[in-house]
Amino acid sequence: MISKFPYYQNCPVAEQIAIILHRIYSMKLTTSSGGNISIKDDDGSIWITPASIDKSSLTKDDIVCIKADNSIIGQHKPSSELPFHQAIYNSRTDISIILHAHPDPLVAFSATGTTPKPEIILAAKETCQSIGFVKYALPGSTQLGQNIADTFSKGFNTVLLENHGVVSIACNIYDVLAQFETLINVARIQINATILNKNFPINTDYDKSFKKIPILSALQKLTSDVTEPFDIENAPLLCNYLNRSYIQGLFTSSSGTIAIRTKNGYLITPEKFDRGSCFESELVSIYDNKYRHGKEPSKLSAILISIFDSNPDINAIFFAQPPTLMGFNISQTNFVSRIIPEAYMFLRDVTSLEPDKLPSIAKYISASTPLVMLQNLGVFVTGKNLFQAFDRLELAEFTAKALFSAIQLGRVNSMSKEQINELIKALDLPK
Ligand SMILES: [Zn+2]
Repeated sequence: MISKFPYYQNCPVAEQIAIILHRIYSMKLTTSSGGNISIKDDDGSIWITPASIDKSSLTKDDIVCIKADNSIIGQHKPSSELPFHQAIYNSRTDISIILHAHPDPLVAFSATGTTPKPEIILAAKETCQSIGFVKYALPGSTQLGQNIADTFSKGFNTVLLENHGVVSIACNIYDVLAQFETLINVARIQINATILNKNFPINTDYDKSFKKIPILSALQKLTSDVTEPFDIENAPLLCNYLNRSYIQGLFTSSSGTIAIRTKNGYLITPEKFDRGSCFESELVSIYDNKYRHGKEPSKLSAILISIFDSNPDINAIFFAQPPTLMGFNISQTNFVSRIIPEAYMFLRDVTSLEPDKLPSIAKYISASTPLVMLQNLGVFVTGKNLFQAFDRLELAEFTAKALFSAIQLGRVNSMSKEQINELIKALDLPK
């Protein structure tokens, strides 16, 4: 069970740390003994995870507090990495939370002396900016603290530690988790893409052309002074699929969008929120080009509405960057759904387009092409309802994993044209 952010914000600091740790442990982003988290309190105290305690069962009572006068309050010894946390707080007085862990995709980069490239995915670049790299020093040493603090003082918010792991810093829990999880997703995508195509081109110019595209034009018509009744009918189900998408690794805490058609208009996820703990009241209802007062709707809203407008049978849309499917996308490797009948039946042939096709994406989506990938951006997955769209997204990532493994094993046999035609006929699939 993942706790809600407002709960984080209203509960004691020690409890906030325990909740974040449980969350990253349950998402398999840290091990029982690895990693540590600290939060700096308003009075200058540093609350930090203890040394040598099983992270899976840790509670608020296990968190240690180091007061501004260096006195220590708590049942355990503070994390052995306390020196680097203190060094960071001394050099970056603008931040109040530090998250350190050894997630395997980032350890892989750390061990090769390189950093993942957030620019391979537009949303990731916006979240992570650039990544620093810190020279190796003995864990727990003053030297390691100095090396890390020096790198953070250059303005980075996330750094990789050579032959060690990752450290992310922020002013709040949302941002630190967003940076941490986004970089892990980017690392997974980049590793998958590299295995598929060692020399895949890293396109760094696409965001310039993307920014010129008037994707927000329809949104400009929306006004925030409307307080339409909240869509209580559909909101719980949408939140349920949001949470499932997060737990299944199809969304990260800061990326992944869902929109559904409702009786009066649309219900869409907001621009900035935690996918792991979304509240129904955070969702945005859109009626007659006006959105419900409150959170900003996703900046993709205009695009999503254009898909609904051109496809009366589509009632739910997901937009995501699942790591294996995006590995195919980034490496420009053909994603073939024709490897098993079930994948072809539900996904059909998946189109991959240049990112500048985003404004006109609606014309590429139909009953016979329910999924469309956009280079460096993500995949649009549509369905007649939330379940069908979610199932297609889940199946697309599963199929990508199967195809990825098949490519490593040897020559992949796709279903023949005759077998596909037989399937289309037998199931009366849309042409
Ligand atoms: Zn460590």
